[in-house]
Amino acid sequence: MSAQTLVPDAILPHPSSTTTMKALVFRGPHQIGIEKVELPRAGYGEAVVRVTLTTICGTDVHILKGEYPVKPGLILGHEAVGVIHELGPGVTGYRIGERVLTGAITPCGQCNFCLSGNLSQCGGALGGWRFGNTINGVQAEYVLVPYAQANLARIPDHLRDEEVVLLADIASTGFSASENAQMKIGDTVAIFAQGPIGLSATAGARLHGASCIFVVDSNPVRLEHARRMGADVTLNFNEVDVVKEILRFTQGRGVDVAIEALGRQITFENALRVLRPGGTLASLGVYSEGLSIPLGPFAAGLGDHKIVTSLCPGGKERMRRLMELVANRRVDLTSLLTHKFSLDQITEAYDLFSAQRDGVLKVAIKVSSAKGSGQDPEC
Ligand SMILES: [Zn+2]
Ligand SMILES: [Zn+2]
Repeated sequence: MSAQTLVPDAILPHPSSTTTMKALVFRGPHQIGIEKVELPRAGYGEAVVRVTLTTICGTDVHILKGEYPVKPGLILGHEAVGVIHELGPGVTGYRIGERVLTGAITPCGQCNFCLSGNLSQCGGALGGWRFGNTINGVQAEYVLVPYAQANLARIPDHLRDEEVVLLADIASTGFSASENAQMKIGDTVAIFAQGPIGLSATAGARLHGASCIFVVDSNPVRLEHARRMGADVTLNFNEVDVVKEILRFTQGRGVDVAIEALGRQITFENALRVLRPGGTLASLGVYSEGLSIPLGPFAAGLGDHKIVTSLCPGGKERMRRLMELVANRRVDLTSLLTHKFSLDQITEAYDLFSAQRDGVLKVAIKVSSAKGSGQDPEC
């Protein structure tokens, strides 16, 4: 242990005299804007992180449209890279100024659910998802990180913010499909929808040893990205009967693993239609309408199918492992960051992202530079 860690960081004076910050505040459906709000202070077990880079998730758009309820006044966002600004009492082994990645999911690491291995469901259903859901999120100059000891993952110096920011949510979620399906080397895989999560699922299937990856979407740009992420066969559902094609490619057998990455009845159903008996359907989508299981492809319940779901795995060990993949060049998601904005321009970024204009996949919201504080002069 270095002498440095023996000094409790909590006794250090607050490193900034600033008491307010800029943040994107949700005021109600279709009402968001940058506001001046109070800068958070770290209590016991907490840390304040100065955000350097963040992004917008499809879930944030659901919230904006009023499809997923959160309380007015909440700061949105759950994917961030930043620098430790303040450490509360009880947080040890970290220093002010260290660059950290926090997952979208911030488990406590101590409850029954966490200790049973279901960190995303910390404290109860969906409980691990706190940022921009039950507590203030990361689309701000600073964010208060709960259970900091379990959630601050140090970023290796040689990795840039852009290389790791997408690990917080989409990569962690996308990769979890193959992991939860317990995919075997040589499995065939079909992935329905190639948005950011679906593209990450494609990269994850390749990492996991899939022998052949079929992907389905209607957007040619996304299908092109899918090839770069590891897809072998890209199918445009506007041009072909995708179920027929996948069954034809697999000699009528069906795939070992089918991944649903949108959250719609049709994608779920088609995933089931191309799944072989005994195969696993890994569902990543967030369903906002009813979902029913068609009896034919479900073999009336006698097909030995497995259906698994996942909420983004989080926690600092998950983030460390994902950063190792990036550091060792096993995966590169930077091409998914198609557009760049400053925090002041974030509502424009929401407009672009929610309308899916200009080939947007993910937007990089540059908040501040890792070295100094405040707005990056480049933006
Ligand atoms: Zn998300
Ligand atoms: Zn927990």
